[in-house]
Amino acid sequence: MQNTSEIPRLVDHHRDDLIGLADRVWGMPETLYGEFRSCAEHTAMLRAKGFRVTEEVAGIPTAVMGEAGKGGPVIAILGEYDALPGLSQVAGLDHPQELEEGGPGHGCGHNLLGSGALLAACAVKDWLEATGTQGRVRYYGCPAEEGGAAKAFMVRDGAFDDVDAAVTWHPGGMTRVDDPLSLANTRMDFHFSGRSAHAAAQPHLGRSALDAVELMSVGVNYLREHMPQDARIHYAYLDAGGKAPNVVQSRAAVRYSIRALKLHEMLALVERVKKVAEGAALMTETTVEARMFAAVSNHFENLTMDRIMQDALDELGGVPFDEDDRAYARRIQATLSPQDIAAEWSVVNEAPRAGAALCDWVVPMRPGGEVLIGSTDVGDVTWKVPTTEVLVATAAIGTPLHSWQMTAQGQSGAAHKGMVHAAKAMGRVTQILLSDPARLAEAQAEHAARLAVTPYVCPMPADHRPPLVPRPQAAE
Ligand SMILES: [Zn+2]
Repeated sequence: MQNTSEIPRLVDHHRDDLIGLADRVWGMPETLYGEFRSCAEHTAMLRAKGFRVTEEVAGIPTAVMGEAGKGGPVIAILGEYDALPGLSQVAGLDHPQELEEGGPGHGCGHNLLGSGALLAACAVKDWLEATGTQGRVRYYGCPAEEGGAAKAFMVRDGAFDDVDAAVTWHPGGMTRVDDPLSLANTRMDFHFSGRSAHAAAQPHLGRSALDAVELMSVGVNYLREHMPQDARIHYAYLDAGGKAPNVVQSRAAVRYSIRALKLHEMLALVERVKKVAEGAALMTETTVEARMFAAVSNHFENLTMDRIMQDALDELGGVPFDEDDRAYARRIQATLSPQDIAAEWSVVNEAPRAGAALCDWVVPMRPGGEVLIGSTDVGDVTWKVPTTEVLVATAAIGTPLHSWQMTAQGQSGAAHKGMVHAAKAMGRVTQILLSDPARLAEAQAEHAARLAVTPYVCPMPADHRPPLVPRPQAAE
């Protein structure tokens, strides 16, 4: 039906423009709904490449969508461009050195994620035009993947209602189809209010909000014995009530992250944690308010989509790294612990290959997955439409995500090659879905069958708004 070398050629045609975009976004790291400049860069690129642009998708100022083609099915290619706080790092080094003291940095490679996805969309757009194929490709520029659950809000508010399937990727150390195991996750803040008093003169008049937070931790620690095996609960103090030990703390707040492998288990666990908070408030004669911050669903598997992606990867082979790429990767690996490197091999269930600093092969698919990762807001898209995610090597094997090493490698030759490779894989999958109605129908039938057994419940209340931040004066 089509020449399998077509998409790679079309990707190569646009590669320099999109590598430029990835490097610019790396240089303007922005976090959690503050991605105004990065989103503007993506919007400008969509316009320059001839896409029909929709700004402020789902009412989120830093979300953008570009569409090309006409009629037919709609395939979404998901991109991200948010950075992480505290991971500023000079590019290309093999030791930690901040670019901006305490500043943010692209420690998860999302500068590549967004540009690679847009690059894939450019190639599919050209192919649709050249062949006159009926169908549409959309690039979704999604902000705030790190903790902001933007895609979950976008799904809830209808941004994917007329989409037929979705494709995405993530940079990392290995090239493989992503395991369908990620955890549903709710971030919820518990604000306790009590009564202040002089802690020595009138302790009996005080009602300590800090005591309540601590008792809540004790209660949650007992709860751990009675939760699903794959569940996780973490917490961080947002407000310990002040620095004076001689004043009974009238307010205190703690943020909980409550995760489980199954969406309904996570929702049930959230209710139990809320009860623990209420119990702590009762014990201390304080009051508590539970405030949702954001929540995402687990990854909803689609084996048909994953097989299409695996075929595309196998067609392409590994990322074509060169000797310079390997030399830098070896210097990065020298900064990693043996445990970091061993962990990456164990994730793919392979014995370490001697001297392999970069993954220039394709890891075989393991349906069902075995390894739990964290959580991602891609999860909610996977419940909405058949979705596949590919992981493509852009960094030295063993590089932890959210590390200075990941930021340092974000503009490297390996990063650029991995990004272009990811675009070729995603572009090829999109081409297959747009030109082979039977494969798309098969993916959708699988999705519907799974959904009939376990229906989707949005993990956030219908009226909960994303934690948006104001547009800075300087932006645009
Ligand atoms: Zn990430």
